[in-house]
Amino acid sequence: MSAELLNGTRLAKQIRSRIRRKLKKLTFTPGLAVVQVGDDPASTLYIKHKQRDCEKVHFHSEVHRLSADVSQSTLIQRIETLNARSDIHGMLVQMPLPETIDKETVIDSINPAKDADGLNPVNLGNLLINREGVTPCTPTGIIRLIELTGEAVEGKHAVCVGRSPLVGKPVGLMLLNRNATVTYCHSRTPDLAAQTRKADLLIVAIGRPEFITADMVKPGAIVVDVGINHREGRAVGDVKFEEVKEVAGFMTPVPGGVGPMTRAMLLENTLKLACS
Ligand code: NDP
Repeated sequence: MSAELLNGTRLAKQIRSRIRRKLKKLTFTPGLAVVQVGDDPASTLYIKHKQRDCEKVHFHSEVHRLSADVSQSTLIQRIETLNARSDIHGMLVQMPLPETIDKETVIDSINPAKDADGLNPVNLGNLLINREGVTPCTPTGIIRLIELTGEAVEGKHAVCVGRSPLVGKPVGLMLLNRNATVTYCHSRTPDLAAQTRKADLLIVAIGRPEFITADMVKPGAIVVDVGINHREGRAVGDVKFEEVKEVAGFMTPVPGGVGPMTRAMLLENTLKLACS
């Protein structure tokens, strides 16, 4: 039997419609600022998508482009200017940054009340203690996709493969906060397959093309493939889609699964910050 696909493109569209409806009740326009350092083509493309998403929901958006050799203090000054602006409700700094700049210091300088990516330590700390707040976009999108299955998270064994602060770690916390039993796996985990086979909920965010194969998946599991890898001119996930879909109960496609949900959650976070 083939897995039911969790369609992130469709869900993201529904979320944007909901945001547009909510916006009609507001007396102001939510504003999102994106700061880009350098001109990495992939970053430029991601930012263009974010701007297009903002247009779709009638948010104000602006991009602040700084040269690749900008100093850390100039970058932080720009963030502080945005922190002080009342028409900017959310902001993010597009990653990666040049090696000369300390990413953590930059994220620290974003006002937590304007942190659209939910990656400031204050917001990650709120997640840790299960306090209401803005949560990182990709993990939040993953939770929404899991909710589409109609299955309860509580009591499930969730296995997160990958422990980055961007995806793996926060998604594990979000599942734990919803009473799943969570196992984290990473590059030093011995016998990874023995862990993944125990997963009712398998979240894979490692950046290794088609790494998870059918024999690593429990029959009927919910499999969320976060990976975006480029192989022979097309995007492939971290999960071997064609064979795993014959074993899993539910599965996200790549593309069209987690990616569009990450972008939709950025809009939701911006609206949340604008209304708080
Ligand atoms: P990172 O490189 O920051 O983290 C990768 C994680 O995977 C690390 O924890 C690493 O372990 C672990 N890992 C690497 N190789 C293995 C292995 N062989 N076995 C087990 N664990 C392994 O990546 P990100 O979390 O930022 O991204 C992961 C993937 O998700 C990428 O493909 C990225 O493009 C994609 N992504 C997609 C998004 C979307 O919207 N769809 C958003 C963000 C990311 P260790 O900690 O030990 O090094």
